[in-house]
Parts: sequence; structure tokens; C-alpha cells
Amino acid sequence: MLYSATSAPLLLLSILSTLLPSLNAHSLPPTTPWRRQAEDNPFPFNYCPAAPWPTGEGSAISSHLPDSDLQAALKEISSANIQSYISTLATFGTRHTLSPQNGSTTYGIGAARDWIASKMRTFATPSNGRMTVTVPSYIQPADGDRILFPVRISDVVATLKGSETPNRVYVVSGHYDSRCTDPNDYTSLAPGADDDASGVAVALEFARIMATRKPKSTLVFVAVAGEEQNLYGANFLAQTYKNASVNVAGMFTNDIIGSPTGPDGTKDPYTIRVFAQGPPAASIEGTAKAASRLSVGGENDSPARELGRFIVENAQNAYTGMRNIAIIYRQDRYLRGGDHLPFLRAGYLSSVRFTEPIEDYRHQHQNVRVDNVTGEQYGDLEQFCDFDFIARVGRVNLASLWSQSEAPAIPANVTIDASSLTNNSTFTWLPSNETGNGLAGYEVVWRPTNSPHWTHAIPVGLVNKATVQVSKDNVVFGVRSVGKNGYKSPAAFGGFGSQ
Ligand SMILES: [Zn+2]
Repeated sequence: MLYSATSAPLLLLSILSTLLPSLNAHSLPPTTPWRRQAEDNPFPFNYCPAAPWPTGEGSAISSHLPDSDLQAALKEISSANIQSYISTLATFGTRHTLSPQNGSTTYGIGAARDWIASKMRTFATPSNGRMTVTVPSYIQPADGDRILFPVRISDVVATLKGSETPNRVYVVSGHYDSRCTDPNDYTSLAPGADDDASGVAVALEFARIMATRKPKSTLVFVAVAGEEQNLYGANFLAQTYKNASVNVAGMFTNDIIGSPTGPDGTKDPYTIRVFAQGPPAASIEGTAKAASRLSVGGENDSPARELGRFIVENAQNAYTGMRNIAIIYRQDRYLRGGDHLPFLRAGYLSSVRFTEPIEDYRHQHQNVRVDNVTGEQYGDLEQFCDFDFIARVGRVNLASLWSQSEAPAIPANVTIDASSLTNNSTFTWLPSNETGNGLAGYEVVWRPTNSPHWTHAIPVGLVNKATVQVSKDNVVFGVRSVGKNGYKSPAAFGGFGSQ
């Protein structure tokens, strides 16, 4: 189901469409409020037909396209602004976590911290107090590894309080610390344009755009420090939220989203990778649930994967300009780890990482230099960034973020009745405990077990129990909430029996 399909699957699609018109994604029922303009989407995520077997109840799921409010917000993301943020962040010499914290407005991580906080505060002004900017910090002792001496780790956090479901929180982060070749070298030049001024630029641009809007849920735009020194800044933030029992319902980290160009010049400018982990650790999920996953085939239905499906359904379209949102079925790349990991470890399981499609290792974690032999320029310099690409990644983030915020919460405690042998499937879930979420009802969604994305949806109304005429033995089920505004939550896996 890749975007760059060969003609063979397309031929198969056309043959199947002829033989089996009901499988054609374009022969959908009349447009509903939450299937706005779906037929017009040039980048559908499920253009290839649903597997012809099994068949069952429900209509084909298509892309969920932005409404006019979201379209307007997406248009405000500016490549020029993103470039200006990255240009400034690249001028602080180094933003290494161990670099100077005070005494300069132009050099070191302290100067970068203060500039980001100042920018965020300026952006917050039109919010009339709804967006607040804080700089929480702690002293990290020397750790015998990448912290050579006790150092203050500061996160810059802009929090835009939700208007209707403020206790539901979504976090978008980038890290403002940088490094060169030696992770503990805190004096050499380390412009960190791609890694990770690009991610910070998205957080800044969101603060600017969202301050004038009133999202239903609380949105948090963060620049963390200490990423290159063992993820300390994000860990501090995740633990702070956990200790305060904050409901972080979704977390995106944008880290190395600056360029779609590989080392051989190959460009893949309309693809973004999203790293989404599989089953949570048993220590977090609980041993009973972890064991149940094995027997019911829930290995591909972690909260992070459901979020990945949601991102593709809501953000792979002409309004973001991203043609291929590649969900990667792993926590992170080999030898690497990002700021979503401390959130996953804190039990915030809907946490994923965005990273460019092909990395050029000459332009990250490298001293700025020209190679004597090859004449190649090394270093994480602004000149290697593609600001239109970063803006597209930002639009993917914003479409996904806003769509979560405006939808009702994910259904809780979804359970399938596995108490007897039947060819239908019965589910129960808890009534929503949110007020003001505009809940219209629920959908049971399903897909063949070997399909990456949900293929069918069955509206079941404003109920907490539903039976559908699809055998639980042959498909994977989920349940999602549907708002009166047409927004739908990510699905909750509907495969666990009562426990
Ligand atoms: Zn990074």
C-alpha cells in the first residue's frame, strides 16, 4: 500500500473495480459531514482496494479532509517564518546543553533558550492569557556519561488552554540543544539547523498560529534541552506531567525534519516518516493485557500505531501537500532515540516521532568543516535545509494535532465479548466522562488482519454496546468516537476480551 505503487496493483484495482464495484473506493455512499470532499483527494491513503476477503458490514473508509477552519490554519504555516527561526537558532555558535547558560544574548544554549521564550511570549500576546509560556528547569547532576558537570536543563513550554476539554493535552516538541561530532564537545560550532532547529521552528510557528484560535483541547508547544545528552529535557517534562496526573492524549516530536535530500542527491520531498512503536512494555500495559495481545493478534494495534493510522487518514492530502506519510513500525531508527521515548516510558503511549525520509549523516552530529580529500562540506548548516519541506511536515503535524483536539476522546475500556462462539461481534466501552466534547456517537472500524489501515466503518450511534455482523475471528476491530462537528478520534483497539 505504498504511494509509489507500480502499475500492477493499479491494474488489479481497475479489474477489481470492474468485477466488484462495491469495493471501489470511489463508489462511496453520498458525502457525509465527516467525509468532506473525500472523492477529490489526490493523495488517498487507501487508494488500493480493501482486500476482497473478508467482506462484511460497513462502508469503505476514505481520507478525512480538513474543514475550512483547519484549511485556513494550514495556509498560515510560512516557509519564510520557518527559515527565519532556523537562521536565528543557527547563529548561537553552539546550543550544546553544557554551553553557557547566562551572560550572553548571542552565544550558547542560555541565549537560545531566552530567545525562544521571548518569541513564544510575543506570539502568546493575542491569546489574551489563554496561552502561557513557562521555562521549567532542574539541575541535572553529572552522570558519568554525557553530563560532565551539574547543569541546569530548561524546557520552554507554551501552553494554550483548551476551550471545552482542557484536561485533554496534546504536546508537540522539538529540541533546541545541538551537538557536533563529539557529543561532549560543548565549545565547537554546532549550528544544529536540521537537528533540531527544524523541530523547534515548527513548535514556534504553531505557537504563532494557534494563539489566535480556540482549540477545544489543550495544546502545548515545546522546545526541550538535553536531547543529545540522554533525553533529559523531555524526560523532565514527561515526568512532570505524570507526577501531576496530566492526561497527555497525544505527543509528537519533530526531530530532524529539515531536508528530504539524501547523500547521493536523491530527493523525496513529499514523504515524511512517522516512527510508531508496537506493543507497549508489559510493565506499562500490564502483564494480562500483554499476554492477551499475543492470543488475539493485537501486536499491530498499540496506541502509537492507532495514532499513526489517524495521522495518515487526516493528514495525507492536498491540503498538507504530503503524499506519503510512511508509518514505520518501530520506536525509532537504529542507534537513535528521540524525545517521544520518555513519554512512552511514562505511560503516554500515543507518542510518535517525525523524521525526514532520507538522512544525510554528513549534515548532523558533525563538526563544521570541509573534508580535505573530498572537498565536501560537513556540518548541520542552514544551507542544507528545505523550508518548504519543513512547512509540509508542519502541516501534517497541525492537521493531525487539530483533528485530535477537536474530536471527542478515544473510547475507554473497549472490550469484545468472547464468551461464546458466534459469527458476529459484540463490543462494550465506557461512557465518555468528558463534558463539552460534542460527542455525536461512535463507529466500529475494522480491517483485514493483514491490512495496515482501517478499511471499513460501521456507525453504531450514541451507545456503549454494539453488535456488528463481522466475525471477530477474521478481522481486527477498533472503536472510535465521532463528534457533532464531524471530527473522529483515533480508534481504540477492540480486540481485548473482558479482564
Ligand atoms: Zn535530534
